[in-house]
Amino acid sequence: MDKIISLCKRRGFIFPSSDIYGGLANSWDFGPMGVELKNNIKSEWWKIFVHSRNDMVGLDSAIIMNPKVWESSGHTKGFSDPLVECKKCHRRFRVDHIVGDDVWNKVKDFFEEASNEDKEKKIKEMIPECPECKEKESIMAPRNFNLMLKTFLGVVEDKTSTTYLRPETAQGMFVNFKNILDSSRKQVPFGMAQIGKAFRNEITPGNYIFRTREFEQMEIEYFIPVPKDDKEWQDHFEHWRKQMAQWITHLGIDYSHIHELDIPKEDLAHYSKKTIDFEYEFPFGLSELYGLAYRTDFDLKNHENGSGENMKFRDPESGEEYWPHVIEPTFGIERTLLAVLVEAFNEEEVSSDDTRIVMKFPGWIAPVKVAVLPLVKNKEEIVSKATKIFNRLQQNFVCQYDASASIGKRYRRQDEIGTPFCVTIDFESLENNEVTVRDRDTMNQVRVNIDELENYLKENLNKK
Ligand SMILES: [Zn+2]
Repeated sequence: MDKIISLCKRRGFIFPSSDIYGGLANSWDFGPMGVELKNNIKSEWWKIFVHSRNDMVGLDSAIIMNPKVWESSGHTKGFSDPLVECKKCHRRFRVDHIVGDDVWNKVKDFFEEASNEDKEKKIKEMIPECPECKEKESIMAPRNFNLMLKTFLGVVEDKTSTTYLRPETAQGMFVNFKNILDSSRKQVPFGMAQIGKAFRNEITPGNYIFRTREFEQMEIEYFIPVPKDDKEWQDHFEHWRKQMAQWITHLGIDYSHIHELDIPKEDLAHYSKKTIDFEYEFPFGLSELYGLAYRTDFDLKNHENGSGENMKFRDPESGEEYWPHVIEPTFGIERTLLAVLVEAFNEEEVSSDDTRIVMKFPGWIAPVKVAVLPLVKNKEEIVSKATKIFNRLQQNFVCQYDASASIGKRYRRQDEIGTPFCVTIDFESLENNEVTVRDRDTMNQVRVNIDELENYLKENLNKK
């Protein structure tokens, strides 16, 4: 992991945020390579899940919404973590993390109902000393801590101006269900997709970009008719499970590194009938990459109750009105990026005293597709030919022009950002109109005629 973090900073993938001010814990900026990587992932996802399907529409809803949205969705009340604080060192901990989910789930209700005195007593039995400073009997009774990031609209900071940065992109889609129906003529089953930022005031962020307070999601809400039996929703669920698995493979992730975790019934959110976590073998352990949930009709129903608007779908043939049920595939972008980086990272021994780091991204993900390298930088004919080639290639590929340092060093630089092909213009090129194309993965070099260069690159990029 340290090697990846250092490479990401060195080569401009990911920087600590507000670096010159000492950074901000768990906040990250995406550099020139990082933003290309992110954009490639987002636009490919959109292409696959929106543009290539007839049953999907896109949406880009606001980050700051009417606070009533979060009351109806249950976030204002239920979206909280049980926290305990140490009297001595004032560190806060999540109870469920210290005692484990199983134990916590059994005593959860007790802490809702018991008197303060009983709560204090019980927590001291459960956590006899502070995990941090080791002080005995210093842990105070748990309190709920809302995960939503609060902010204020307007000039007065009071209750009436309180609003939140959205903790998920999903609700923006549910509240637009009517607008989409009225404007798009879509019939159930159909889905909405959205890519955007969400915010959670996580108590225990960390593991690099894995869990951050500001993050980006790619999310789908797929609306289906009220299932007559289990098989009906299971078929849709299975369709989306396969789609997600295909996407993961498309990212260049070896599927043997993925574990599909069927969340046990007792741990499911109360509105969910089934949830699968796609867990990935991150360097810090097996952790959730994506989630797929069957949310029933929970959300539309709640928004109808909360807003008073009719959120039902009217079947044009039967005339029947109903709240569609929802299958929800969720993809975190930072987690996608991290898994892609981990998967692409390779350290190879080139000779007994030489290793190279090479990022073996699939061609479509690679931030830079082609590097154009004049063999020498002080020979005018070579430089002008290289510039011409660069200008032409740039119209179809993301390219980099690099004339500094030795050719070997330049190759290594490109390996570290995962550029699939390096095109070198040398003295011979001036005579026979051919250039050397070096392959990132095999390091093999072939001579290609300049007139055929674009076709060659296009064809071979698709094979990566
Ligand atoms: Zn302490």
